[in-house]
Amino acid sequence: MIPREIIKDYFHCDISEYGFQDLYDLVISNKNCVLCGTCMSICPRIGINENEPLLLDYDPECSLCYKYCAKTYFPEKFFEKEIFPEHTTKDPLIGHYQKVMLAKSTNENILKLSQNGGIVSSILIHALDEGLIDGALLTSKDENWMPKPIIARTSKEILEATGSVYALAPTLSIYRDAINKYKLKKIAFVGMPCQIHAVRKLQFFPPLSDKYGKFSLIIGLYCTSNYSYDSMKDIIQKELGIKLNEVKKLEVSHGHFIAYTKDGSMKNIPIKSIKKYSWSSCQYCKDYTAEYSDISVGNIGSEENTWNSVIIRSDIGMKIFKDTLKSKNIISNNHIDISQIKNACLRKKLKVNDMNEKLISALKLFNIPELEAKTYLTLLSLENADLSMLSAVMKKESSEINLALNFLKQRKWISSINEFYKPNNLVNVFKEEFQNLKETFEKNLKEFKLGAFKELETIYIKNNLKYIKNNILLDDYF
Ligand code: SF4
Ligand code: SF4
Repeated sequence: MIPREIIKDYFHCDISEYGFQDLYDLVISNKNCVLCGTCMSICPRIGINENEPLLLDYDPECSLCYKYCAKTYFPEKFFEKEIFPEHTTKDPLIGHYQKVMLAKSTNENILKLSQNGGIVSSILIHALDEGLIDGALLTSKDENWMPKPIIARTSKEILEATGSVYALAPTLSIYRDAINKYKLKKIAFVGMPCQIHAVRKLQFFPPLSDKYGKFSLIIGLYCTSNYSYDSMKDIIQKELGIKLNEVKKLEVSHGHFIAYTKDGSMKNIPIKSIKKYSWSSCQYCKDYTAEYSDISVGNIGSEENTWNSVIIRSDIGMKIFKDTLKSKNIISNNHIDISQIKNACLRKKLKVNDMNEKLISALKLFNIPELEAKTYLTLLSLENADLSMLSAVMKKESSEINLALNFLKQRKWISSINEFYKPNNLVNVFKEEFQNLKETFEKNLKEFKLGAFKELETIYIKNNLKYIKNNILLDDYF
């Protein structure tokens, strides 16, 4: 088996040793699968069993399922270079962006059917009418809110998929049909931040990108957490006491899961109190705003929930948004409260803060002082952060954190690019630390043997001669 450390080289060479078993070991059995549907779509040998991809046939180990999976290696720098022009701003919380604003549809019908301002449907319909896309992979639902991936090729089909479902959907499982059956050449995708990782791989990584790579517009939806269909049913039926077929609209807003019913009433529950239902891999997810989309859309940042907040990231996102604005299908304003979005991002990134006293004291084995150990563990939990973010999270002065970061950098535990800090590969870090520890221990032992031990031995022999039966040989003991 190829060591995991070379996964990063994997995308630049043509090896074929990775198969479904690797995908299963690293992603599925570790409960990291987000059920995006990519593996099932690109490989006819992979199906689905309840909430898990399943190998149906023999495995030729062609590596495709592993390579394009939403949860395997995702070289951020590569994608940043491909997707975002140099003039974008990079924010540690919301990612790359060109503009952040509020927007809403001007079409009454869309507004009536949609979540908040109806921006996603309006942009898609405009892009379809103008020939900028020829179809969209979306998630619709049946009357019992069971998510249903659809390939929308008309505005009517786009409107059928309005409204969020809050249950995992293998939206990408229909990618193969979009390409092979419907021969789409300019596909839009709307989905969760995690799904977008797979979409970007399909768009840019050969061999599929050479042949297919037909995604033209990627819209990401803000995401706090997601649920399996069964869990979502339990939240609605058991926690909120509503029958599924009575639900008109679901929403996650200001820390609450909200269900609006067809009779005009509304019930809600704090997200915190339904944490036990959340999908396992969502518990380690830190991307709230879909940082690798062309345009991200959500419902936070506005006083009124009839507007969407919109983050425009790439040039294609900017072009399509401006076109839609020009056509008067949408309106926009700058009265957005970005701090609300940033706070939601921070809450999600901090959800995983594995600060643990046992680990802090274990790191002392390597002579890591407490603040440096805490800084390292915080960075490990956050994935990457700049100085101001670390200082805010750790509630310490920037100057103190800066010293800790420099210490960790010198020890090669972390590295930095453009003022963002990232933990280095854990295996390499500790391999080197073990080696250093071993060499230091052996050196100290040797010095002890030739120095202090000799002196101790002389003192012992001189003062305790009467107790010594046989001559002591030092080498017996080392
Ligand atoms: S490609 Fe998607 S569905 Fe398949 S294992 Fe990866 S996350 Fe799960
Ligand atoms: S919380 Fe993260 S992993 Fe879960 S659905 Fe949202 S984006 Fe995907």
